[in-house]
Amino acid sequence: MVEKSINYPGIFDEIAAKLPGIANHGQVASYIPELANVDPDKFGMHLINYQGEHFSLGASDEKFSIQSIAKVLALTLAYSAEEETLWQRVGVEPSGNPFNSLVQLEYEQGIPRNPFINAGALLVSDILVSHLKAPKEDLLAFTRKLCGREDIHFNAKVAESEKRTSYNNAALINLMKSYGNIKNDIDVVLDFYFNLCSIEMTCRELAQSFAFLANYGVNPLNNEQVVSASKAKRINAIMQLCGFYDEAGEFSFKVGLPGKSGVGGGVIAVYPGKFSIALWSPKLNSKGNSYKAIEVLEFLTTKTQLSIF
Ligand code: GLN
Repeated sequence: MVEKSINYPGIFDEIAAKLPGIANHGQVASYIPELANVDPDKFGMHLINYQGEHFSLGASDEKFSIQSIAKVLALTLAYSAEEETLWQRVGVEPSGNPFNSLVQLEYEQGIPRNPFINAGALLVSDILVSHLKAPKEDLLAFTRKLCGREDIHFNAKVAESEKRTSYNNAALINLMKSYGNIKNDIDVVLDFYFNLCSIEMTCRELAQSFAFLANYGVNPLNNEQVVSASKAKRINAIMQLCGFYDEAGEFSFKVGLPGKSGVGGGVIAVYPGKFSIALWSPKLNSKGNSYKAIEVLEFLTTKTQLSIF
């Protein structure tokens, strides 16, 4: 077998040339009113390879709302805190349902299918509220360390906007509480969850924050073991199977990398041992995932054969 050498500058130039011709279908998320204010034509992309080289395109240094991508950061913290008992309260199976769906909770006694649907991330948030002294501050400190930058913040307007329209998430957490799977005060957990989703980052910061998952659990910035290699493998496996909800199969089929999306239009993907990449394009397809980010990532992994498959 031969290992392929990769010409990253070449492929970035090719994508830059193709970009204007790639369709930008879909709609910016508006169910969280504050998210509707973003320019729908923004596009950014940033890749960091295992040698620590950076490649970027477009608005890669502009902050955006990372939304559900932050669920991976929360899971990483909760997995470290709870170890394997975590899986007694949340599963690792793809849901095949929309990210905000309620139906499976009833059949499965309040145990969410996986940590990346909203129910699962609310459950993970409950675990963090139990474990962390100052949950919101600790989460920010963890994220800042991952990407080596201090200017990582919640967006209070986005968190507030989500709180005001939180009927679906409130229903999910109440249902889990009724089954005894939520231990803390519902409003405290929801407040943590809305702040988690409101974190803002650039593509560069996001790619850097996820580099530990491309590096067997070690943060390449400071060589600290964030999680064990085994935990990194498992988190990547959950991203592969559940990161795009009821589009996870199609994302695997087209792109072939572990990844996670957010309704702010962000997408992160990692190739263990090779690179992490973040993309941002706010218009979402009907499954709530960025239309153009997936198109571009599919082009990249097909052209370079840089898919884990
Ligand atoms: N904050 C969003 C919500 O709870 C996150 C959803 C997402 O990014 N898919 O609905």
